[in-house]
Amino acid sequence: MIEMAWFAGYPREKIEWYPTIDPEKCVKCGMCMNCGQKVYKWTKEGPVVAQPYKCVVGCTTCATLCQGNAITFPDKDKLRELYKKEGIWAKVKRELIKEGKLEPEE
Ligand code: SF4
Ligand code: SF4
Repeated sequence: MIEMAWFAGYPREKIEWYPTIDPEKCVKCGMCMNCGQKVYKWTKEGPVVAQPYKCVVGCTTCATLCQGNAITFPDKDKLRELYKKEGIWAKVKRELIKEGKLEPEE
């Protein structure tokens, strides 16, 4: 089975979703490096957001783990507006049906 492209092929670069670090708040705990997507890079000064568009759209795991509460994301409502405007819900649902993911499991 082919995995569905995230957002049914909608280009990732057109979606404004990635973390921002407030360096004043960062306590260099290293928790953000737990992200498996290689979004962050560790430097002598601490973490930087090196590959923002590798961030999984809608994910906020690193912000929850961040000891300094230094990580923020864009407004979730903006994301939902985009979903609506671009018909993302319908497209993703079509893919899910095609992949059989909405069939009840025995
Ligand atoms: S939100 Fe998720 S995918 Fe994005 S950088 Fe944080 S842990 Fe990684
Ligand atoms: S998790 Fe937060 S406080 Fe810890 S290093 Fe990353 S940005 Fe800094």
